[in-house]
Amino acid sequence: MRERVNRRDWMKTTGLAAGAMVAGAMKASAAETKREASPQPLAKSSVMFQRNIPVRYEVDVFVAGGGPAGTAAAVAARSQGATVYLAEAHSCLGGMGTAGRVPLFMPVSDGVNFLPGGFGKQVITRLEKEKGLRGPAHDIEALKRVYDAMVGESGAVFTFHTSLIGVETESGRIKHVVCSAPSGIFAVRAKVYVDATGNGDMAVWAGAEYEKGGAHGQLMPGTLCSVWSDIDWKTWEANRPKGPQPDGSMLEKAFADGVFTTRDEHLTGMYRLGDTLGAGNIGHTFDVDGTDERSLTKALVTGRKALKEFERYYREYLKGFEKTRLVTTGSLLGVRETRRITGDYVLCLADYKRRATFPDEIGRYAYSIDIHPLHPGKDSYAQHRKDFDETFRYGKGESYGIPYRILTPRGMDNLLVAGRCVSADAMVHGSIRVMPGCFITGQAAGMAAAMAGQQNLSVHRVDVKDLQRRLKEFGAFLPNA
Ligand SMILES: Cc1cc2nc3c(=O)[nH]c(=O)nc-3n(C[C@H](O)[C@H](O)[C@H](O)COP(=O)(O)OP(=O)(O)OC[C@H]3O[C@@H](n4cnc5c(N)ncnc54)[C@H](O)[C@@H]3O)c2cc1C
Repeated sequence: MRERVNRRDWMKTTGLAAGAMVAGAMKASAAETKREASPQPLAKSSVMFQRNIPVRYEVDVFVAGGGPAGTAAAVAARSQGATVYLAEAHSCLGGMGTAGRVPLFMPVSDGVNFLPGGFGKQVITRLEKEKGLRGPAHDIEALKRVYDAMVGESGAVFTFHTSLIGVETESGRIKHVVCSAPSGIFAVRAKVYVDATGNGDMAVWAGAEYEKGGAHGQLMPGTLCSVWSDIDWKTWEANRPKGPQPDGSMLEKAFADGVFTTRDEHLTGMYRLGDTLGAGNIGHTFDVDGTDERSLTKALVTGRKALKEFERYYREYLKGFEKTRLVTTGSLLGVRETRRITGDYVLCLADYKRRATFPDEIGRYAYSIDIHPLHPGKDSYAQHRKDFDETFRYGKGESYGIPYRILTPRGMDNLLVAGRCVSADAMVHGSIRVMPGCFITGQAAGMAAAMAGQQNLSVHRVDVKDLQRRLKEFGAFLPNA
């Protein structure tokens, strides 16, 4: 069953009244355990945790998470003169595209127009200058440097190894948030907050409504992305089988030979990074919940083991890969789907199908609906292929509008969401979740946050025409505004 949680339910489960509340990761996790069918409860009992902590940053805009959405938000907010602090839990900016080793950018164009104009255009241009792009595949280290430079030059303050761990909310307004870093626990006070954590942590801990999973409550599988050496690309190109899944052309034989412990028919594949180097989006970890560290741990262990099987598969079954070696895997598991925060509007499949236009459009995007098979096996894969290649694929020049209202969580005054956790149904999430989509929602959220902060307005009352004007100046593709 699909999980749907609202603010009142959330407060009931945490035992908090409707007034002031402190929502920490530990409390939220304990509450979620009741709602989610986790194998074992996360907590046996509870303790009170209270400290006096310093307020280390007082800024106009706080951004939690420095993936494609968070970096775009920080730079866009700075472009409007807002002071910005960004907290990133990991050791680099870029999220899945760097720490997760996701190998390439999904389309930045509808075949006619460049869609993630503004921040996305700057990223691609800088990567090209760094010789960090090979077709759509990116050099992960170059991308890290590009994000470092862009956020640094914008004047936004950012720190790594800094996790958001708590949110204090009063009457739909975040009063401050709590972060944990090597130097200790500290608070951040901002006028407006942008949740770019991918999982929507800040919004959920603030009490926002959300959904998780599709019609049957299941989440897309994850993938532990990887880097491979010693590939003879010329031989592979000369012998590359035709069809939608060249890397998977020998899977049937390998299944019959007992190479794999899981019969996963969907093999996205290996992408050329250098003369002999490849980036892999290979294998799936099924039934993983990216908001539960126990589930993530299991998936990482499974993913690492599975890649050893894929190493054998590539070496023994595909021409050009005879000497390939797995060099490294992502330091974050690739998580495709967790929570979608419910906004003033939920972008839905009907909007996708009609190539919708909205008066409050903040961008347009065009990627097909890419929902990886929820189960291993032939039938799920066949359905995925049909949906991705035929049913939902757009023609040249076609795109769907992204309304501002999917960035504004219902009932929350000074909070915006960006990236993977925006307000969309599970189907549209399958399209908007990729990096160019995250650039688009990230830059709009950052800019709107700056405006709301400077004008002392609720995020629901931002002048959208003015936002669109500023986004256009920033380079956004807004043909209908
Ligand atoms: C296996 C896989 C393959 C994919 N392939 C492609 C592809 O080929 N092309 C493409 O364009 N897209 C692809 N995607 C999708 C895309 O990479 C992600 O959906 C996108 O990166 C999401 O961006 P985001 O900024 O919302 O979140 P993320 O990229 O997840 O970034 C979130 C950031 O927030 C940080 N964070 C999380 N919680 C906290 C916290 N509490 N405090 C502080 N920081 C926090 C994380 O460390 C992370 O850096 C793929 C995704 C996966 C998983």
